[in-house]
Amino acid sequence: MNALTVRDLSKRYRGGTLANDRISLSVALGEVYALLGPNGAGKTTLVRQVLGLLKPTSGAIAVHGVDVVANPGFARRNVGFLPQGQFHMEMARIGEVIHSMARLRGLPTAEAKRRAEAVIARLDLEEFRKTPHFTASGGVKRLCGLASAIVGGQKVLVLDEPTNDVDPVRRQLLWGLLAELRADGAAILLVTHNLAEAERVIDRFAIIDRGQILREGTPASMRSLVTEMLRLELTPGFGFMPHPCLMPDQPNPGAYLFELASLTTVSAWLEEASTGGRVLDFRIGPPSLDDIYTAAVATPAPPLKAAS
Ligand code: ADP
Repeated sequence: MNALTVRDLSKRYRGGTLANDRISLSVALGEVYALLGPNGAGKTTLVRQVLGLLKPTSGAIAVHGVDVVANPGFARRNVGFLPQGQFHMEMARIGEVIHSMARLRGLPTAEAKRRAEAVIARLDLEEFRKTPHFTASGGVKRLCGLASAIVGGQKVLVLDEPTNDVDPVRRQLLWGLLAELRADGAAILLVTHNLAEAERVIDRFAIIDRGQILREGTPASMRSLVTEMLRLELTPGFGFMPHPCLMPDQPNPGAYLFELASLTTVSAWLEEASTGGRVLDFRIGPPSLDDIYTAAVATPAPPLKAAS
């Protein structure tokens, strides 16, 4: 059974915005499912509904098979959650926040202590144990939020941008920890922009834009798209007009994606444009996963093949 199931979920806000438009996805125990998408795509709206904090307009959500639209309290008790942005805990110290969260999650005192200490050690937060939460850096607050999300041992975790502001060394700890949680059987719904790093732990992903899932697949299926695409960077000269085969690699000016099948056409065009001074210099290379993601979002009816 899937630990989290979302079926035909739609949310229209009072102002009329259709923030989620018939979204369906599922996350199994032992699986990391990433949600990728630009600002305003509808990710937070989806997450808030999964957590029972926002009522869907239509559709169904189940956590461990329980309908959380009818039982929002069940989701709040059974889902570990790292919200977007910072939360503020006034005078509490980092160590206290994590310990209190373990207790709030209903663990017996000794177990709460054991788990809180394990998480503090695992995320290398020992040196910040006594730091008041409100004076901690953004990255330490983020890690404290992650520690609080996982300390209760919930098997369904929703983590919204866990790496924001976190330093590279602790980001590695964080990805390692997510891999361990997955191996322990957690079902993790991960909202992230850090695709390059997240790729290590993602089992499946969905690219969401304007409230809809544009594509869903495994990192391998995304990689197979990469092998069919090339990336061109160029410096335009006077009279430059991009060839129709080229898709702008937004938001990078002067960068384009094109299909491998068009390489001969693009090469001939580049040679002519270089001779005519319309292209001053250029470089062709493989695109990154970020490029593919950008191309998918930039093109509502993507020329890329659907990921399986
Ligand atoms: P994301 O998390 O992907 O950035 P959101 O779910 O926050 O996207 O927003 C999706 C859309 O819903 C946006 O157009 C946003 O302006 C709109 N929206 C979000 N929250 C509200 C709200 N409380 N009332 C009205 N519109 C909202």
